[in-house]
Amino acid sequence: MKPYDYVIVGAGLFGATFAHQAKRKGKKCLVIDKRSHKGGNVFCKNEEGINVHVYGAHIFHTNDKKVWDFVNGFAEFNRYTNSPLANYKGELYNLPFNMNTFYKLWQVITPQEAQKKLQEQIAVLNIGEPSNLEEQALKLVGTDIYEKLIKGYTEKQWGRKAVDLPAFIIKRLPLRFTYDNNYFNDKYQGIPIGGYNKIIDGLLEGIEVRLNTDFLKDREFFTGLTDKIIYTGPIDEYYDFEFGMLEYRSLRFENELLQQQNYQGNAVVNYTEKEIPYTRIIEHKHFEFGTQSNTIITKEYPSEWKPGMEQYYPVNDAVNEKRFKHYKSIADNEPAVIFGGRLAEYKYYDMHQVIASALAKSKVILQELEFLEV
Ligand code: FAD
Ligand code: UDP
Repeated sequence: MKPYDYVIVGAGLFGATFAHQAKRKGKKCLVIDKRSHKGGNVFCKNEEGINVHVYGAHIFHTNDKKVWDFVNGFAEFNRYTNSPLANYKGELYNLPFNMNTFYKLWQVITPQEAQKKLQEQIAVLNIGEPSNLEEQALKLVGTDIYEKLIKGYTEKQWGRKAVDLPAFIIKRLPLRFTYDNNYFNDKYQGIPIGGYNKIIDGLLEGIEVRLNTDFLKDREFFTGLTDKIIYTGPIDEYYDFEFGMLEYRSLRFENELLQQQNYQGNAVVNYTEKEIPYTRIIEHKHFEFGTQSNTIITKEYPSEWKPGMEQYYPVNDAVNEKRFKHYKSIADNEPAVIFGGRLAEYKYYDMHQVIASALAKSKVILQELEFLEV
């Protein structure tokens, strides 16, 4: 009899959600993480009374009532609504693209005037089926918005020319003909009061967690402790890069503590011109309507990913997708290991999606187990 029902590699949202559900079914779990803290990329560090989102700004949003109710079981959410601003050469525009943006760009007041202006710009370009991001963006929003608010930001973010990027990236940007600056269309949105650590602590309550512990450095020891591993680390690393390394985009965060109460008046300001090397400045206190006397800002610099750096955005191009498929095909034939989460599935997952995925996977696995145990 092995000491644990599950050894869960990774104390991020996927691992913590899975562990929580397994514990509820009476299963004994050990969660390990190579980092010195729990929470994976949603980890917050409290400095000067401000919750700093250490691995990038995280705003919770979902349409899934089940997931919303689930997270609200661990923390109360505030009324934060993401309404980023775009700074282009000192001019400020509202995001996502909406009537406020169109008014600032062209002084148009009604939706009809805005639509006419957009259509005029799009028609002269005469673009058929878009074959890259630039064409897709121009076809959606015309020249002015593309040049001022998309081109520079996108090329910095992805480190490639917009003509060399796939069209689908830009389909994520909503276009609205109302005066509504809410970045998301989802029904539920907010920031957990007290930060994301509260949710993670709640999920992992009563569960053994070992930090600074790398599964891959002691694989045999950990597989000896259980018959089932839940692995949420990078899938290519698990297989010693047998089919090559999966590529990512990375980010560098530069934090500054400022002796002033309010630096930019908004949590998120994007810098959309290419001459400024960072893509955005986050002022963390505004996520929680902070009234501290100081403030902490983070400048976000996109960068090429190299081994040893944090993996942030998967590069889901044809080469990497093919590599991932090789890994997935062997992973699917490994019944003792369940692969889940953004790194093991090589997928850009929002928080609500990763929770939904962990809830669904744990349900299937725990039910199968119950069936076998009867
Ligand atoms: P992770 O949080 O990465 O957890 C995996 C854990 O596994 C890590 O802690 C890692 O240390 C550990 N691990 C890996 N390998 C090993 C090993 N060998 N041994 C032991 N431990 C190991 N989502 C939103 O909904 N809203 C947002 O606003 C938002 N903003 C984001 C901003 C940025 C910059 C990024 C990159 C992502 C953002 N996300 C956002 C997505 C969100 O971060 C993810 O959905 C979520 O954190 C994924 O959880 P996970 O458990 O899959 O992965
Ligand atoms: N984007 C842009 N200008 C902006 C914000 C976003 O051109 O001010 C583009 C950019 O290509 C980015 C994509 O829209 O990669 C998706 O933006 P989103 O804010 O959803 O990205 P994320 O939060 O994942 O960084």
